Amino acid sequence: MIDLHSHTWFSDGDLSPTALVERAIQLGIHQLAITDHDSIAAHNELSSFISTELQLLSGVEISTNWEGREVHLVGLLFDLNNTALTSLLSLQQQLRWSRAEDIGMQMEKAGMPGLFNYLQQMPCESVGRSHIAGYLVDAGHVGSKQQAFSKYLGKRGRFKTSIPWCDLQQATQVLREAGGLTVLAHPDRYDFNRARLKRLMSVFAEAGGDAVEVSYSNLHPEKMSALAEQTMQAGLWASVGSDFHTPANTWMDLGRIRQLPANCAERAIWHHPRWSAALPAKLPAVQPSVV
Ligand code: AMP
Ligand code: MN
Ligand code: MN
Ligand code: MN
Repeated sequence: MIDLHSHTWFSDGDLSPTALVERAIQLGIHQLAITDHDSIAAHNELSSFISTELQLLSGVEISTNWEGREVHLVGLLFDLNNTALTSLLSLQQQLRWSRAEDIGMQMEKAGMPGLFNYLQQMPCESVGRSHIAGYLVDAGHVGSKQQAFSKYLGKRGRFKTSIPWCDLQQATQVLREAGGLTVLAHPDRYDFNRARLKRLMSVFAEAGGDAVEVSYSNLHPEKMSALAEQTMQAGLWASVGSDFHTPANTWMDLGRIRQLPANCAERAIWHHPRWSAALPAKLPAVQPSVV
């Protein structure tokens, strides 16, 4: 089994890197990419991790800007020491901290103090809205993280702020120059119509992007088929990933992803010519699981 999209507590996941790889082994995953938001700290912490059961692949999920909209890119199998990439990630982390400060001040004015103290106790390197949602729940301002997003942090939320993320093209280029493969993450979560998504895929391919996430948690099989078709038409490869954040969301658990549709099975990202070249070592053949 393979899972190419997962988070630890260095971004907005609940598990430590060690707990994440232990869970992956328990669930029978053979290849795992940890893809924290704008952070590779988990990989640095696990730099001496060796297992005969699980191969750990370098990964990251970068928030980018494309025509004023936020689009997420997953980078895989890049060099963790590439300085252009580490500088880009530091910058993104700074933008995240500035946004948290901004929201914290707005909250304080609204009679909800204490965000900074709360965030200081977090193990994260990339602070996200999910942490802020956690604060709002723990302080009793809302009943759930979902509510925190709808009332305060989401598109129509009271404390909505947008971040000037790096450009999609820039992130793609940096990942490529760091030797990685670049994947367009969870395309149906952007509220783009078919034509806009087609244009995004074409811009992404033009910029040197490699693949599209075709199979991921919560994606309806019919949507997955349509996505597979569009991905093939764009001449891109197909990737898979659960986007695991926490064991509490059982429907997004590690490896809980459908097998790629037949029309793109041969274009699975692990058949990409640069894939095996970039792998640290070989493991037995892998197949994504069927839910
Ligand atoms: P950020 O990158 O800090 O802006 O936060 C985006 C992250 O927040 C996503 O990766 C999700 O993990 C989480 N998220 C976004 N929308 C929601 C929501 N409506 N409910 C819960 N979590 C969400
Ligand atoms: Mn997240
Ligand atoms: Mn994402
Ligand atoms: Mn993610």
